[in-house]
Amino acid sequence: MSEKKVLFVAAEALPYIKSGGLADVVGSLPKELLKLGLDVRVVIPLYKKIAEKNHEELEFVCEYSVNINYVEVPVRLLTSVYEDVRYYFVEHQGYFEREGALYGYQDDGERFAYFQKAVLEMCNQLDYFPNVMHSHDWHTGMIPVMCKENFLHDPRYLNIRHVYTIHNLAYQGNFSKDMLDGCLGLSMHLYDNGNVRFDTGISFMKSGIVYADKVTTVSPTYAQEILTSEYGEHLEHVLQMRAQSLRGIVNGIDVDVWNPKTDATLPHNYNKVNVFKNKKLNKLALQKALGLQEDPDVYVVGLVTRLTGQKGLNLVQQEMGALIAANMQIVVLGSGDADIENDFRAVEAGNKGKFVFYCGYNEDLAHQIYAACDGFLMPSKFEPCGISQLISMHYGTLPIVRETGGLKDTVIPYNQYTKEGTGFSFANFNGWEMVDAVYRALECYYDNPKDYKQLVRNAMATDVSWEHSAKEYKEVYDEFEEWK
Ligand code: ADP
Repeated sequence: MSEKKVLFVAAEALPYIKSGGLADVVGSLPKELLKLGLDVRVVIPLYKKIAEKNHEELEFVCEYSVNINYVEVPVRLLTSVYEDVRYYFVEHQGYFEREGALYGYQDDGERFAYFQKAVLEMCNQLDYFPNVMHSHDWHTGMIPVMCKENFLHDPRYLNIRHVYTIHNLAYQGNFSKDMLDGCLGLSMHLYDNGNVRFDTGISFMKSGIVYADKVTTVSPTYAQEILTSEYGEHLEHVLQMRAQSLRGIVNGIDVDVWNPKTDATLPHNYNKVNVFKNKKLNKLALQKALGLQEDPDVYVVGLVTRLTGQKGLNLVQQEMGALIAANMQIVVLGSGDADIENDFRAVEAGNKGKFVFYCGYNEDLAHQIYAACDGFLMPSKFEPCGISQLISMHYGTLPIVRETGGLKDTVIPYNQYTKEGTGFSFANFNGWEMVDAVYRALECYYDNPKDYKQLVRNAMATDVSWEHSAKEYKEVYDEFEEWK
């Protein structure tokens, strides 16, 4: 039997570029699928950062063009191999080699229409037709649509099966319906019949959900939640129609990158035997580096996050008084909404030595925070999967989470009777429940250290690798008849 071919199409992938958890997934799941005998490749846009950082290793593959707004726009395709996975990069200086953020531009619709068209034409140019195209999030939602509607007489395209993974339903890629014809080469009929329509425009996310053969999302609980109006982001009815083809599979983490035993960014590496001693040493190093009061015994809670409403930071803002009053230090690493940033700056100014806010994106510091802290707070309003709680557990840092989405699926709350648990949790999205969960964590840490240590051991023993979830993705592919 020949190797089955899977092409991952996404907007970001580690180790090349990352703005959120999507990059972690696209950067680590393919190599795990490779181990299961699949030929997995990945295609992403060539952003400026990649062009600058990786130019020496990128190889030219070919040049061609795609039609955008009735004009032939050139595409340069580059490639590189990382950890046995072949990556392709779609280069267009105007669309992708910009300073600053990866998305959030006026012409995002056109940029990603171009990217998706370039990916489909890449198959023709390389005579490489995967069995499955696995597309991720709104940036790639039109792949199954264009593949099925624009190549009606080409079995090479029609034979491709499509898996579409929702990493975050809140970002939908909604654009003007004028894009259908000129940018995407699709008939206005698809707007009229409702297939790609959202309100008075089109939605890349909805289109992917409607047209993919199978839809997955990144945790079983989120897969249930998005069928409801509370979490469905106005797409719950479309998702309900696809419920038979919808599956939730939790993310793993790349345990080669996230490994406290070998992590080169840590002052003191550790394993499950010396975790308690060395975490304290890491704590002291972090306190020193960030200007916190140096005390290895005080409880330190960390947050490493995008500063947006989704992450429940308004609860932290609301309850700052109660959190500051507690016997603990707080470390926040993140950037995002200006009002949250300003608020945290003000709190830091008034609570030197106890609260520290590092505004920005910093990979090394993130690693050091995961390793140094005792607790990790994620009071999310919704959380499709969440990666930070998995990293925290792996680093022996107990997550304090709201029971939603993947947080509910991956963190086992402390049970003082059975001593089970890998963290602390609360159910309802309100400040007092969050504070109560933080206080329970503190009580356990200070008053019941034996239990606390047991929870740390439980957390570190939890399998957060991709091994299990990669098998679940393979099961999804295996359900295609043609696959067998
Ligand atoms: P999301 O994808 O919604 O942002 P996830 O929990 O799935 O949330 O993934 C977030 C990832 O991004 C984690 O690996 C986290 O450590 C990392 N991260 C978030 N903010 C920062 C930051 N400011 N600096 C470094 N890493 C960050």
